[in-house]
Amino acid sequence: MKVVVTGGAGFIGSAVCRLLARKKGFEILNLDKLTYAADLRTVEVVSAFPNYSFAKVDVCNKEAVATVFSDFQPDAVMHLAAESHVDRSIDGPADFIQTNVIGTFTLLEVARDYFNGLDDACKQAFRFHHVSTDEVYGSLGDEGLFTEQTAYAPNSPYSATKAGADHLVRAWHHTYGLPVIISNCSNNYGPYQFPEKLIPLMILNVLQGKKLPVYGDGGNTRDWLHVEDHAEALFTILTQGRVGEKYNVGGCNEVTNLDVVRKVFDAVTTLVPETAGKSFDEVVDFVDDRPGHDWRYAIDPSKMRDELGWSPKYSFETGLAQTVTWYVDHRAWWEPILKDKYAGQRLGQGIVQ
Ligand code: NAD
Repeated sequence: MKVVVTGGAGFIGSAVCRLLARKKGFEILNLDKLTYAADLRTVEVVSAFPNYSFAKVDVCNKEAVATVFSDFQPDAVMHLAAESHVDRSIDGPADFIQTNVIGTFTLLEVARDYFNGLDDACKQAFRFHHVSTDEVYGSLGDEGLFTEQTAYAPNSPYSATKAGADHLVRAWHHTYGLPVIISNCSNNYGPYQFPEKLIPLMILNVLQGKKLPVYGDGGNTRDWLHVEDHAEALFTILTQGRVGEKYNVGGCNEVTNLDVVRKVFDAVTTLVPETAGKSFDEVVDFVDDRPGHDWRYAIDPSKMRDELGWSPKYSFETGLAQTVTWYVDHRAWWEPILKDKYAGQRLGQGIVQ
């Protein structure tokens, strides 16, 4: 199977590339614009594989995307390219509308033209897998879970653009017959996550002896899934999912933001004794809440489990321990990012996923 993975130099896309490139019978083309969030070191381990290639392309550039399709002749697209950070979407939504909405529209149009030119057997096999977030469903109260039937109610510019993209993908199936699948996943964590997101931000702040900024009272709750479990789920959906369906992917690990930060603090200070000394209460810093901050996200993943036999391998405890160890052991990965990409930006002063 020949798969175009968009956003394959990002956090989740690179985990998908690393997974698929090792699968027998798969050929991967990683299509990525290489924004600030991208890092080709995330795919270094597979970059010399004969079944892996990379193209620096903007998904909004129709001609360039069409050329990739006609040269590579994919059997499937896994669409992960996006602007992904909620706080950035609040500060500047334009890039989110451009990439997440216009970019998805552009990719759909190229895929539609390409699909229409395929013979019947290839049409039967073709898949357009759109990777989305549970944030499209909006906020839960203290009870309940998001199912595939939950109505969309996005609250941030980020989630609104992802919801818009989901609707376009759905419409291209119903209107034009493009064989699409959509998956909506909860918060991911793991190695190679860009250090503006909650878990790596907190790990690096503890390692650097900085304060740990937490929005509001820290009671906002998220469901956490290790990125390798998400990549396995995406592989399962691509190969076994039903066309036209939606799948919710989650880890059944609901944790408040404050508890996440506390667990990170405990893990780092245990692993790296020179970071210990201060109590958690001395380093936690409650900052003004994010505007429109969703209270709680939680996924009902029973369709993934019952229909596709997928379930996560990592518990939050084992996944977090592995992730903390990875960041401690990979200073050479994140130090240049802090130095080069963050000069003058507000990392560590309230940016919390
Ligand atoms: P990321 O920000 O780490 O990576 C995004 C990648 O997309 C980067 O490599 C970037 O260069 C690329 N990209 C951005 N704009 C592009 C453009 N115009 N053309 C081509 N490439 C472009 O994001 P991530 O956390 O890996 O998320 C990947 C996908 O998964 C996104 O669609 C996101 O909405 C979704 N998702 C993320 C999470 C999460 O917790 N991170 C959870 C659920 C769903």
